[in-house]
Amino acid sequence: MDYTKLKNCELFLFDMDGTLYLGDEVYEGARELMFDFPRMGKRYIYLTNNSSRAGEDYIHRLRRLGFPCERENVFTSGMATGLYLNQHHPGASVYLAGTRAFHRELLSYDIRLVNDELGHTESELVDVVVQGFDTELVYEKLERACHFLRRGAVFIAANPDWVCPMPADEVLPDCGSICALLTASSGREPTFIGKPNRNMVDVISAMTGVPNEKICCVGDRLYTDIAVAQNAGAVSVLVLSGETTPEMAAAAERQPDYTLPSVKELHELIR
Ligand SMILES: [Mg+2]
Repeated sequence: MDYTKLKNCELFLFDMDGTLYLGDEVYEGARELMFDFPRMGKRYIYLTNNSSRAGEDYIHRLRRLGFPCERENVFTSGMATGLYLNQHHPGASVYLAGTRAFHRELLSYDIRLVNDELGHTESELVDVVVQGFDTELVYEKLERACHFLRRGAVFIAANPDWVCPMPADEVLPDCGSICALLTASSGREPTFIGKPNRNMVDVISAMTGVPNEKICCVGDRLYTDIAVAQNAGAVSVLVLSGETTPEMAAAAERQPDYTLPSVKELHELIR
C-alpha cells in the first residue's frame, strides 16, 4: 500500500462518534493522536454532522473527554447551514425545526428566524424551512414545517443521517429520518448541507487555505464521512471502529483511499 497521499495531507477532518469515541468511551490512541498534531506540523478539525449541538457545546464536550480543542478546531453541519443561508438566501425569513442550541447557532450568523426557540411562530409564510437533528422535537414543529413547505418554502436540512449511534447498540432517529416524515407529508425533498455535501470540505478549504487534495477526511460511515471526501476530491480514511463492518467495507461501491482498524493505526502512519 502506498501511503504517500495520506502522509502529504496537511489538514485532517475527524468525525467523532464511532471514530474518536462512542458515547463517553474514548478509543485507545485517540487522545494521543490529537495531542500530537502540533509536533507533526499538521492541522485538524473535528467535523460533525450533528446539528443538535452548537459548536460551543462541542468544545466543552471534547475538553471534558480529554481532547485538545479550540474554537477553530470545530465545524458542525449547523455552522455550515448558517454560512449556506447567508450565501444563498441572504436576509430570508427562516422557520427552524431544531434544538435550542441550533437556534442560538443560527442567530450567531444573523439568520432571521421567525420562530422562538420552542418552535412557536405567528408567521403564515416563510422563505426557508430548516430542519435539524431535533432532539427536542414536538408535533407543532412538524405541523408548521409541513404547512410552510406545502406553500413553497425552500427546504434545507442540516444533515442526512438516518440515525445517530449510541452505546450498547442503540440509535437515535436523526435528521434524515425526520426529513423522510416531512417529505412523505409535504411531497418536498430537502437540500442536505452536511456530509456528504462537498460544501463541508470546500468551506473549510476556503477558511484554512489548504487545497482539497491535501485534506484528509477520517470517519466510520461510508455514506457521509467517506462520501464527502470523494465528492470533494479529498483523501479518505475509513476506520472500522464504528458502524462499518469489514463486510460492509468490502462491499462498498466506491472504496475509500485507505481502510484502517482505528485512528491508532492512522497515528502510526502519519507520525
Ligand atoms: Mg461517526
